[in-house]
Amino acid sequence: MEVKEIKAKSILVKSKLPASDYVINCYTGCGFGCSYCYASFMGRFVGKEIQDWGNYVFAKINALELLQLELRRLKEKGKGVTVLLSSVTDPFQAAEAKYKLSEQCLVALAEYGFEGTVAILTKSPTVLKVVPILKRLKTVDVGITITSTDDKISRHFEKFAPNVTTRIETLARLHDAGIQTYAFLGPLLPHVLDEKQKIKEVLDAIYRTGTRRLFIEHINLARYIRERMLSELNDIGQLKNFYNDQSKDYREEINKEIYELLKDYDFELLYDEVLYHRDGV
Ligand code: SF4
Repeated sequence: MEVKEIKAKSILVKSKLPASDYVINCYTGCGFGCSYCYASFMGRFVGKEIQDWGNYVFAKINALELLQLELRRLKEKGKGVTVLLSSVTDPFQAAEAKYKLSEQCLVALAEYGFEGTVAILTKSPTVLKVVPILKRLKTVDVGITITSTDDKISRHFEKFAPNVTTRIETLARLHDAGIQTYAFLGPLLPHVLDEKQKIKEVLDAIYRTGTRRLFIEHINLARYIRERMLSELNDIGQLKNFYNDQSKDYREEINKEIYELLKDYDFELLYDEVLYHRDGV
């Protein structure tokens, strides 16, 4: 794993994502190295290839300094604004233990008296360490990615990320700590999580955490993602199925199963639907 310190030009970056106005990515690269990660295109900004994703992390060591300056530009202390940590990296990956850049940014937001929402999306239990900081923020919303209930599956697709059992526990502990949470059930993995029973097991596991908010999304298999998956996962047969099942019919079939299952729970489905984005980055 190559870890390098760099200086960024900005840290509070305007976002085109539907649910966030700004994103904070304190790292370029992600040591969790998920095979389906759409953020692998980020390598182009630091001279890395798509296939290098997961093997490098560049820490933006001036993140705090930049954020303290950039926060001052927000009107009314960011009232009505949502800031997401992070959109193209995991804010609590292993490098965070050394650099604490995401933590520093959260402290800066709290000290500034940020009036908006701080959204976090992670696969890491390290987020539990910042609960006291999260409590100082006006509004927080923490999402934990849950892709199955089987640690063997998480090891396969998310090879260096905390396993899914740990993530489910993390979600429960955040909820118990009084933090607003949601589960990100995504990406839905074709041929891994498409049987009704399997999806039900995941929904049950999420339900038991106490979290009642769900964000569900289909996998994005744009060409650059498929190519990396092909080299990362050596089960070619399964990958062929992945390719074949990028059909609208297949997605609609899964959606039908999910909507049917959701009738038995009192989950709030964020965005009111199972999302599908096919970015051609
Ligand atoms: S944790 Fe998120 S950002 Fe990191 S590799 Fe996995 S999907 Fe990509």
